[in-house]
Amino acid sequence: MDERELAPDSGVGPVTLQAVSRRDALRGVVAIGGLLFLPMPGCDDPHSAAVPAKTGTQSPTPDATPESMMPGDYQLPELPYPYNALEPHMDAQTLKLHHDKHHAGYVKGANAAAKELAAARDSGNFKLIDHWTQKLAFHASCHLLHSLFWKNMAPAGKGGEPSKELSDAIKASFGSQDKLKAQMVATAKTVEGSGWGIVGWHPFDQGLVLLQCQNHEKLTIWSVIPLLVVDVWEHAYYLKHQNKRGDYLEAWTKLINWKDVSDRFAQARKLGTLT
Ligand code: FE
Repeated sequence: MDERELAPDSGVGPVTLQAVSRRDALRGVVAIGGLLFLPMPGCDDPHSAAVPAKTGTQSPTPDATPESMMPGDYQLPELPYPYNALEPHMDAQTLKLHHDKHHAGYVKGANAAAKELAAARDSGNFKLIDHWTQKLAFHASCHLLHSLFWKNMAPAGKGGEPSKELSDAIKASFGSQDKLKAQMVATAKTVEGSGWGIVGWHPFDQGLVLLQCQNHEKLTIWSVIPLLVVDVWEHAYYLKHQNKRGDYLEAWTKLINWKDVSDRFAQARKLGTLT
């Protein structure tokens, strides 16, 4: 289990990114760690997107005042299914710990970093700006990737199939859905240390790409929009699979929510080439 994640090493505190996130959210897209994150399907704000109404992050409005855009208000989204919904491929205990402890810790870290950056901006004291910007890149990217990860999964047999448009893009970039899965498993399995496998839409190339992400924010291609992500930090699989990361990844392929991925793909295509 990765102690790094369990420790809400969050001496981090809130501001600039939050304000930036809000402004970019108004345009419907936000960039962190070299990736562009789209709003979650059905939501207005990329980082609060998966937050159910009852947990309440308000969607920004074009006339929102700076005072209403308080920094550091990332919130832990609720899981879109019960803890045991992904059994037997993903066990309930792992899912509960992963969401309730690990993801929650990252949310806390992102908020702390954003607040520290805000304080630095307001005071003009930028001595620790490198420290807090790195903290924010790490924690906020983590928060966003986990928010996608939960929605990218569905109970086995409930994830549907890719849309025709996504299916065509998969064939063009990877050959077939099975080849995409095999390549993603191979890519994620060989991440050095902790990280993610990410299938994204690359606006420059107008095609899908597969990224091997280290930690939560490294080894990206600028502007790539993540559509399908898989967490290969040990906390995602160690209770059930111990050191067998490949077994975990094979099980994860049974849980892909193609409806969600297709919705993200349709949104990403609307952005054009971003040039
Ligand atoms: Fe994780």
